[in-house]
Amino acid sequence: MWGVIGIMIFSHTLIYYCWICLTYYEGRFPYPSGVSDIIPFFARMGKHVVEGASPTWYACMIYWAFLLFEAFLQYVCTGVMVKGLPLEHEGGRQLVYNCNALQAWYITLGLWVYLQWSGLFPWSTLMHHYGPLLTASVISGNAISVFSFVIAIATGAQFRMSGNLVYDFFMGASLNPRIGSLDMKMFAEIRISWMLLFFLTTSCAAYMHEVHGTVSWPMLFLCLAHLFYANACMKGEECIPSTWDIFYEKNGWMLIFWNFAGVPFVYCFQSVYLAKVAGPIEHSSWYTITLYVILCTAYYIWDTANSQKNHFRMQQAGTYIKRPWALPQLPWQTLKDPQYMTTDRGSKLLISGWWAYARKPHYAADLTMSLCWGLICGFGSWVPFIYFAFFFTHLMHRGMRDNERCAKKYGKDWDRYLAKVPAQFVPGVF
Ligand code: NDP
Repeated sequence: MWGVIGIMIFSHTLIYYCWICLTYYEGRFPYPSGVSDIIPFFARMGKHVVEGASPTWYACMIYWAFLLFEAFLQYVCTGVMVKGLPLEHEGGRQLVYNCNALQAWYITLGLWVYLQWSGLFPWSTLMHHYGPLLTASVISGNAISVFSFVIAIATGAQFRMSGNLVYDFFMGASLNPRIGSLDMKMFAEIRISWMLLFFLTTSCAAYMHEVHGTVSWPMLFLCLAHLFYANACMKGEECIPSTWDIFYEKNGWMLIFWNFAGVPFVYCFQSVYLAKVAGPIEHSSWYTITLYVILCTAYYIWDTANSQKNHFRMQQAGTYIKRPWALPQLPWQTLKDPQYMTTDRGSKLLISGWWAYARKPHYAADLTMSLCWGLICGFGSWVPFIYFAFFFTHLMHRGMRDNERCAKKYGKDWDRYLAKVPAQFVPGVF
């Protein structure tokens, strides 16, 4: 219990502390000058938050207009119907997911371009209201977590409860909460976090253009990186129902808060750093080009590794759907004659494609991309590397939990799998 209370306090502190570094200290980490300065230091930090990040009606309106618009699109857009993994505790029932994020993404992108072009809502507005928007998202993330928890308990939808109120609030009560056809977890995971991240980064680029009259190569790099990530989530939405977050994690504070506030607002600190602190800095051509090449390569491995495993699993389950209009279609995203290991549990474990080299090739590629997001900002501040540090810890912990779960689920078959694919991330290294 104390661990999760610590994580919740730390998450809020981290978000605001980094925001303060970028807004008031040019990316440096402020700290008390001595023991006698501890209380005044906290008073200064609090004053910064009150002055620069108090929620405003306008910021709340922007944030909630976005949420409601995406919820509306979730209900009306057409997509592909995909069955989730069988729910063991419900006798193998499979939920159906209306995967229409791609259509919603294209419509939202079209609207985003129109808003800038028409002058109705210049992109830089998000940056001008970043502090209040951040707090609007933090309040919303916490409020939605409380609301979801109370509703789950009130309707008897709780599942796999520990009996500790705080821990259960953190991990969530219900596994698959829905409002009609809107699946709360899929909605938060796909649409809110990644779309908002991309819009915040384009807002940073627009802000840089407004202030400096130019958009630097590092800033364009971040726009590309966040476009890659957001677009991949939309185009591969039908693969998400079989991921750990959807089939195992519950709709708790951890998932809700991080998707509604943490992911978009923390993952874009690099863009905020370039827009607000560093300005249109340029690195040497070889440094910039190398990072662009590494980003594109890591993206390719990440996208195709996820696709290979998910397409393989969907083919086995007979739910695979070809979506040629979901762009870009990358070579090697679907394996022909994949090699696999059969298990006593009935599931098959893929051991070809990227999965012949490591058990978590997609984590390695994802971490590489996150490191590039920091490196492109140079070394003037450590704030752009916070995301990498956080993500590294998160994926290590997640990988460990997943390994424990699979070892329990597959027993000796898991040991056979570990012997066949010994590397976790990179063959011969780790
Ligand atoms: P995985 O895609 O690694 O899914 C884990 C499950 O896949 C296992 O529990 C197991 O489930 C199954 N599995 C494991 N090995 C194999 C295999 N060889 N063949 C077939 N099935 C296998 O998990 P995640 O959901 O953690 O990650 C999905 C993606 O999301 C990753 O790319 C990750 O980097 C990204 N991600 C990004 C985050 C971010 O904030 N940017 C946060 C978290 C994840 P089963 O019981 O069915 O066998």
